[in-house]
Amino acid sequence: MAARRLDGIAVANQIRAELRPAVEAFTARAGRPPGLGIVLVGENPASEIYVRNKLKSAADVGLRADLAQLPATASVSQLLEVVDALNRSEAHDAILVQSPLPEAMGPGAERRVFDAISPDKDVDGFHPVNVGRLVQNRATLVACTPSGVIELLNRSNISIAGARAVVIGRSDIVGKPMALLLLHRHATVTICHSRTSDLQAIAAQADILVSAIGRAAFVTPAFVKAGATVVDVGINRLTDRAEVERACPPGSKGREDFERRGWVVVGDVHESVAEVAGALTPVPGGVGPLTIAMLLKNTLLAARLRAQC
Ligand code: NAP
Repeated sequence: MAARRLDGIAVANQIRAELRPAVEAFTARAGRPPGLGIVLVGENPASEIYVRNKLKSAADVGLRADLAQLPATASVSQLLEVVDALNRSEAHDAILVQSPLPEAMGPGAERRVFDAISPDKDVDGFHPVNVGRLVQNRATLVACTPSGVIELLNRSNISIAGARAVVIGRSDIVGKPMALLLLHRHATVTICHSRTSDLQAIAAQADILVSAIGRAAFVTPAFVKAGATVVDVGINRLTDRAEVERACPPGSKGREDFERRGWVVVGDVHESVAEVAGALTPVPGGVGPLTIAMLLKNTLLAARLRAQC
């Protein structure tokens, strides 16, 4: 039987619909809308699209959203000045510096910049103070993608407590916070990564399997226990025919998209997993839309905490 499709677009729309009146009420109480400051450095086309979507989504729910743009040649000090101004701004409750930063900024730039964001305005939950709070299960602002996954599981009535969860990927922005959020909801959690031995056998024990590695169609049916919930966080843009043929079966939408426009976006999970899993998030249309919805939700939360209303 084909897996139930966990519709991220529908859940994200639900969250936005709940946010609109809540943002309106905050604006009436505080005399100003919650404010989000986005900083974009350089001209990375994917980042430009992400930022445009974030600005539009923020405006749609009634948030104030401002963009500060710096050229690719900007120095880390110039970027830190912009972050400092947003830290001190009365109108901004949340700050997002779009990743990745230009390579010319040098190694370690991203960490320096993220660390400079005031923890109270750290809408992505990347600051070490917020990560520490998450470890202690007293988090306020938590990374948007993993908290979006939790919203999706909750609103799809997938029970987490007591479940055996396996997270593939241990990045600071997805894998680690994902594992902690599942742990705090009483799952028994295993984290796998590129050095994990026998990853397939470990994954196949999971009731909830989350893949966040960025490897197209890596997770095949052999990784999945019958009836498991599979969450595909990966976003992989393929332009190579051989890769597309491996990831997208003949007649699939992915294959059609590729034939039409020469590229396709797929997740970490092979389409054939739908024949084994009980529930599955599609790519696109699964976790992605929730990441933006959680950014909006975190902005309102940061505003409420700052304004204490
Ligand atoms: P990342 O920082 O590159 O981390 C990738 C992780 O995957 C690392 O922990 C790495 O292990 C592990 N890994 C890589 N290849 C592996 C393999 N063959 N077997 C096992 N583990 C492997 O990536 P990220 O930022 O976490 O993002 C992961 C994916 O999620 C990407 O496709 C990204 O585009 C996507 N993403 C989606 C959203 C969304 O909104 N849907 C948001 C963020 C990210 P090591 O630590 O051992 O190197």
